[in-house]
Amino acid sequence: MADYMEVVIAGSGTCVPSLRRAGPCQLLRACGCNIMVDSAAGSLRQLLRAGIRQDDIDLILYTHFHPDHTGELVPFIFSSKYSPAFSRKRPILIWGPEGLASLMSGVAQAWGDWAEPEPDKIVFEEIPVSMMTSQQFPPFVIKTVHTKHTPHSLAYRINGPDGKSVVFSGDTEYCEELVELSMGADLLVQECAAPEGKMIQGHMTPSQAGRVASKAGVHKMVLTHFYPDCDKSDLLTPCRRHFDGMVILAEDLMRIIV
Ligand SMILES: [Zn+2]
Ligand SMILES: [Zn+2]
Repeated sequence: MADYMEVVIAGSGTCVPSLRRAGPCQLLRACGCNIMVDSAAGSLRQLLRAGIRQDDIDLILYTHFHPDHTGELVPFIFSSKYSPAFSRKRPILIWGPEGLASLMSGVAQAWGDWAEPEPDKIVFEEIPVSMMTSQQFPPFVIKTVHTKHTPHSLAYRINGPDGKSVVFSGDTEYCEELVELSMGADLLVQECAAPEGKMIQGHMTPSQAGRVASKAGVHKMVLTHFYPDCDKSDLLTPCRRHFDGMVILAEDLMRIIV
């Protein structure tokens, strides 16, 4: 069993179609477990390209329900029922903010049986957004805070048994809750949807990302969720004005050892 965590960036882009960047999806691998965070349309194929099969996934965490973060949910359920390659002994868990249950029932209403999860294959659970939560997913402890993006958006911190920790910001503006969640984390996977000077409401610029990382004292940070404008701009300089730790600009299928 590996004694390190690995993060795979399956998609570093947004809702904007791009040959360079698939939509948002990340995967954390540690202790023989695979935890997927968000699933843009096409994420299962992206993960296959990284050598990770659908039935390798143990837990899916949804940060919020924007379509670019949840586009693969229906295909995921559908293929768990009908793919001949799908063979898991334990169900896949899906956790998400309040609203997950109504999303699932809406999906079942729209697609009928095709998209109704079989309880021995997929089990879902809502996480409250009112305060910092902490749940056990042995051997991990997973903490959440409410972020500044949608009424129910969450950021996740995954603490491993050896003390290593990774935070996934999801989509959010700068907020102190994210700073608090990220305190001393080994890796912060941080959205940075807009270049400096072009802030988009509900998202962060490189300098704001740098402020979160610096205030929280994280060891390193990966910037991701890049709208096309980001690829025409210098993201590192404004970020490094605030944060002197390691900053990595995400690309699809990048792997980061924690
Ligand atoms: Zn969003
Ligand atoms: Zn997004």
